[in-house]
Amino acid sequence: MTADVPEITIDLMELADLGQPLKLAFELHRQIRAQLGAVPVRVPLEQIAKALGIVGIREYDTDNFEGTLVISDGVGAVGLRKGMPPGRRNFTLGHEIGHFAIPSHRMLKAKFECSASDLRRARPKDQWETVPHEERIEIEANEFSAALVVPMPEYRAERRKLSKACDLEQVRVLARKFDVSLEVMAKVYVTSADELAAIVISKDRKVQRVIPAPNFPYLGLRAGAPIPELSLTRRWPDPSTIGTVSELRDVPTHAWLEKRGRVEALYEQVFAQKNGYATTLLTVETNEDDDEDDDRHWNRR
Ligand SMILES: [Zn+2]
Repeated sequence: MTADVPEITIDLMELADLGQPLKLAFELHRQIRAQLGAVPVRVPLEQIAKALGIVGIREYDTDNFEGTLVISDGVGAVGLRKGMPPGRRNFTLGHEIGHFAIPSHRMLKAKFECSASDLRRARPKDQWETVPHEERIEIEANEFSAALVVPMPEYRAERRKLSKACDLEQVRVLARKFDVSLEVMAKVYVTSADELAAIVISKDRKVQRVIPAPNFPYLGLRAGAPIPELSLTRRWPDPSTIGTVSELRDVPTHAWLEKRGRVEALYEQVFAQKNGYATTLLTVETNEDDDEDDDRHWNRR
């Protein structure tokens, strides 16, 4: 899969003092960049695993776990559930590499069995101290993996090749390029976008996950909540549009936002997927910094 990528060596001493998951991921990128000039956009996870001391990666026909890591005598072996889509497989492999690379995880146990819900765990807004250790390591492994599979300088270079305005089609293109799931790419995309953007993942017109940029206006949507009545996402996906992305359309702000606040306009775009899934991009224009917004404002009218 990544046979065209040359062998990588990792200086483990450089990693030794880095306990923090994101710093570890960035240090791995740094070392790869030093060797190859840039991190390949399909991050060579297999080579990284090998260079760190994971001697085997095998796929298993199982429902017991999505990913597993067993460490013995300092050497790791990873198992992955057979049949995962590539983006999800890569994220899971990155997660298991995280358990292996983060020193505090190895101190906790030598055998990790990570379920689908472990791979969805995210950091709560506050009260990290009250999160049990067993869950913390899952969250940290997810954060490590998300950082590892999308190296930011390489991401920005790829993003710059695309048009400036946000477009869901770009999220699909970038996800394919980096070989990650739409969800992993959605997070990177909205948090680094010039515009205020959010992505909502839904199934059967019910919210599964909301991924907003840090300053995006409050959506007030929880997992399980119905997709708002007035939205495009409510109307657009149907058997004839599956596999396609809608245009970006102007929708009433109250279709999605609890409070309008400084929002002047709200735009929505939907990607209708198989099995009732839909991915929705929302962008807003605010009347805060008028000068900066002028261009986009006029382009859109
Ligand atoms: Zn795990």
